Amino acid sequence: MIAGKSIHDWQQTHPLIADLIALKETAWFNPAVLPAEHALADVGLTEQDKDAASARLDRFAPYIARVFPETEKTKGCIESPLKSIPKLQILLESRYGFELPGSLWVKLDSHLPISGSIKARGGIYEVLKHAEDLAIANKILDLEDDYAKLDNNEARAFFSNYRIAVGSTGNLGLSIGIVGATLGFEVTVHMSSDARQWKKDRLREHGVIVVEHASDYSAAVEEGRRQAMQDSKCHFIDDENSKNLFLGYAVAADRLKQQLASAGVLVDRDHPLFVYLPCGVGGGPGGVAFGLKLAFGDSVHCVFAEPTHSPCMFLGVYSGLHDAISVQDVGIDNVTAADGLAVGRPSGFVGKAMQRLVDGYYTVSDDELYALLALFDRAEGLRLEPSALAGAPGIARILSRDQDAYRTRMQLTPSVLQSATHLVWATGGSMVPETEMNAYLSRGKAILAA
Ligand SMILES: *Cc1c(COP(=O)(O)O)cnc(C)c1O
Repeated sequence: MIAGKSIHDWQQTHPLIADLIALKETAWFNPAVLPAEHALADVGLTEQDKDAASARLDRFAPYIARVFPETEKTKGCIESPLKSIPKLQILLESRYGFELPGSLWVKLDSHLPISGSIKARGGIYEVLKHAEDLAIANKILDLEDDYAKLDNNEARAFFSNYRIAVGSTGNLGLSIGIVGATLGFEVTVHMSSDARQWKKDRLREHGVIVVEHASDYSAAVEEGRRQAMQDSKCHFIDDENSKNLFLGYAVAADRLKQQLASAGVLVDRDHPLFVYLPCGVGGGPGGVAFGLKLAFGDSVHCVFAEPTHSPCMFLGVYSGLHDAISVQDVGIDNVTAADGLAVGRPSGFVGKAMQRLVDGYYTVSDDELYALLALFDRAEGLRLEPSALAGAPGIARILSRDQDAYRTRMQLTPSVLQSATHLVWATGGSMVPETEMNAYLSRGKAILAA
């Protein structure tokens, strides 16, 4: 029984649940979405909150540039490139067998400095916010200071009195661990069983305490939360509920807006922007989508992508149960090669905040993720981790014949679609060790050849 109804009854009222259980690639476009001017109020956060996060990152930029020299050329701004990928678009047309009008781009969060994934946005932001709060309260920092002064032994000794804990499938731990340890904090990362060995090794090299769990992400988070609750000097970074993580991700949108403008890409009602975001617990894609809705209003269409084995946000929003349902509750195993997306229960906060702002949700099989990984490499010479490919089929899902009703409802006429921009948010991969990447690529090539 789930929320007082049997799985059979749920399937009667929500027929796509049967497709999810059968692990079929599935898409759902939510008829309850509303214009941004109405639905943004659901979020409980404002444009001012996002701007405050952006200003905080600016204050830390001199410190970031100093301790992470790879960010010197961007003056300590942690940002990724935007790239047009027309060759991939052609390969996708032949793979999916129909025309894909509009232009295809990729946002390379895979190549974000410091930790090589989208978590370098939210994860690092929350650590910096915590550090600033502590340092200001204890009068070792003033808002007007040059924050580069935090790169000294006295500041590190101060932060070493405090602890940070987090539960992660890998990338969040990597981001928080690297920045937290650099500031001087004692950081403990609770890793789920699907976390890659190299991510654990990398963290231990930075002096981070890595606790390995035999269970999945939700259990690792729970253990982190439990330990931190017993320790008043420990800050638990709550991937399932944190508004700070969410705001750190949201800052991406204004920067993307500038990048699109410099690239001469117009976004308005007649030139819509579609953004395909890989979704795990939901904070990353939710925060980015919140920022996008603030920046572009109804000219942007956000779509979340999940593995067929872990469609937690799809299931949560579609059933209306949010974090009161997990994929395991309906017999789905939450076992996927897309380790960053291996989450069985969605964030209740993000699902409820964003459900009327996100156009739709779709699932991708692991084999398709590997095939797309190989296609990206072949077409564009870009190497991504499996999770990061979930957004790549989005353009074909939107334009598929199955979604006529959605396109009509959104007034996406053929001429508007000719002028559309489709953006694949590539969420990770540049730090994957070469041997591991070669194994991913050969697996993908084998699937393409089959
Ligand atoms: C964490 C992660 C995501 C999704 O972010 P959530 O906040 O968990 O939804 C997507 N891709 C990669 C590579 C990630 O590490």
